[in-house]
Amino acid sequence: MPAHHSPLIATIAAGLVLAYIFGLLANRLRIQPLVGYLLAGVAVGPYTPGFIADQALAGELAEIGVILLMFGVGLHFSLKDLASVAKIAVPGALLEIGAATALGSGLAWILGWGPGAMIVFGLSLSVASTAVVVRGLQERRMLETERGRIIVGWLVVEDLAMVIALVVLPALAGLAGGRGISHQAIWMTLGITLAKVAGFIAFMLVAGRRIIPWVMHYTAHTGSRELFRLAVYATALGIAYVAARFFDASFALGAFVAGIVLGDTKLSQRATEEALPLRDAFAVLFFVSVGMLFNPAILLQRPLAVLGTLVVIMLGKTAVVYLALRLFRYRRTTALSVAARLGLIGEFSFILIGLGVTLHLVPAAARDLVLAGAILSILLNPVMVHLADSAVEVKARVLRAMGKAPPAEAPAEPPAPEPEPIVASQPEPEAAPPTSLTGHDIVVGHGRVGRLVAAGLIAAGRPVLVIEDRSEARQAAREAGAEVIDGNAATPAALALANLPGAERLFVTIPESFEAGQVVQQARAANPKLEILARAHSDACYDHLEKMGSDLTILGEREIAHRMLDRAQVEKVTESA
Ligand code: AMP
Repeated sequence: MPAHHSPLIATIAAGLVLAYIFGLLANRLRIQPLVGYLLAGVAVGPYTPGFIADQALAGELAEIGVILLMFGVGLHFSLKDLASVAKIAVPGALLEIGAATALGSGLAWILGWGPGAMIVFGLSLSVASTAVVVRGLQERRMLETERGRIIVGWLVVEDLAMVIALVVLPALAGLAGGRGISHQAIWMTLGITLAKVAGFIAFMLVAGRRIIPWVMHYTAHTGSRELFRLAVYATALGIAYVAARFFDASFALGAFVAGIVLGDTKLSQRATEEALPLRDAFAVLFFVSVGMLFNPAILLQRPLAVLGTLVVIMLGKTAVVYLALRLFRYRRTTALSVAARLGLIGEFSFILIGLGVTLHLVPAAARDLVLAGAILSILLNPVMVHLADSAVEVKARVLRAMGKAPPAEAPAEPPAPEPEPIVASQPEPEAAPPTSLTGHDIVVGHGRVGRLVAAGLIAAGRPVLVIEDRSEARQAAREAGAEVIDGNAATPAALALANLPGAERLFVTIPESFEAGQVVQQARAANPKLEILARAHSDACYDHLEKMGSDLTILGEREIAHRMLDRAQVEKVTESA
């Protein structure tokens, strides 16, 4: 077959090759590879000279990336997790969508657009990019942290709201176009959509929950890895397609629910591993396809409008999310970290504004603005996240420089209450008192590693203090006989309660290396004699922790290899660099 007759292959080939080259360049320049993928898209897009890939095909390939991403998130996300963050995610996301839509509409009004355009434009700016945010969380190993759960819950609510918006939009277009569609018709459409989506979720939870695990177990028992892999892909894509085709839900939502159902089974870990390689390849194509839509000329033609759009997305939305979380009495640090990560837009915005243009609700310029806003906010978001994450540290440093360094007994910022059983009217409880333990061992994190460490120390009669930010893990630590501090151990506030100067040893067992490094660094500063033992996942993370002041850093994977060699009674070899 001649090459020009195979647009699908051409699009995949050009997308992957250019993404690879630009990704490599980005890596050399120490910027996010994602930026490289987006620029690769601009290069194969219709607005730059040279090869032009098939935009419609690229869009569909991108959708596969979103499906696999959301499926992976669902696998790690239990219904319990979802319920635990529903209290904040539902009202928080709705409040944010409302406020961000209002801000976006305001901008549209200034630009002189009509009411239909105002609403569509505003809505497009209100929804964060699931694909981008989830990728970021994965890279930082944050999906299983409380902040990660809030963010995913928030994204799910936003996705649901956008699904509804997409269905209602055509009816709205009729109304705006003066074709006399009544309010009643809109409510009807809304009701039917909601009922269909609810029907899909109910169907999955009742029937899917029985059938899918059974099929997976059956397949696993055939012993064929290939068949198991196929079963994973068939489930993810098949259910996503059924959800979108027959239940008016989005592909993303369908795949997410499929993941949740499968995630309840013991096979979820294996399923995740099987889905990973394909997911990463298609996620790259997603970013390339976004880049393809971008017409860089808009930056020169309407710089002020682009700036306004960016301000709404990055500052307006972030401020609203921050305020909403503070309203629900979340810690400042949690609120800041979550809000910064949601200050960008992505796939749903493109779909929504595209439909708006097709329905003649918004001018084509609106699409260019949304795209410019999306690309710029995706590019700039890592900077904002970095600033937010280091804000706590900077604050502590400023306090220290001003001579107001918080001694162990006076926390710089009293830890706000953990948000689980929050009643809105409940007053903020008193700050937790610092520990009275001395000569104690501090265990940071009470998960797979930390709970074994704590149990061993307690059995040996050591006084143990656990710092943990997950409520179930805290409960387990208390039951095991440890004293417990509730909070993110990377914050000075939580560490200030642990009497670091009086402690013997610190075991840092959390998996996220950035946070682990922060704990080690602060602990080392507070007590030069403290023995610090830390857990690492990679060579880079090992070096980082050693640099921050860890006395013994343990690389999990290396220990596994050593144990295996021990069993085989074979000498270990030191790895050359
Ligand atoms: P695992 O990876 O199973 O050993 O679990 C790690 C544990 O550490 C989990 O229970 C997390 O909730 C907890 N954890 C992770 N990061 C932090 C942090 N920054 N502060 C306190 N606890 C944490």
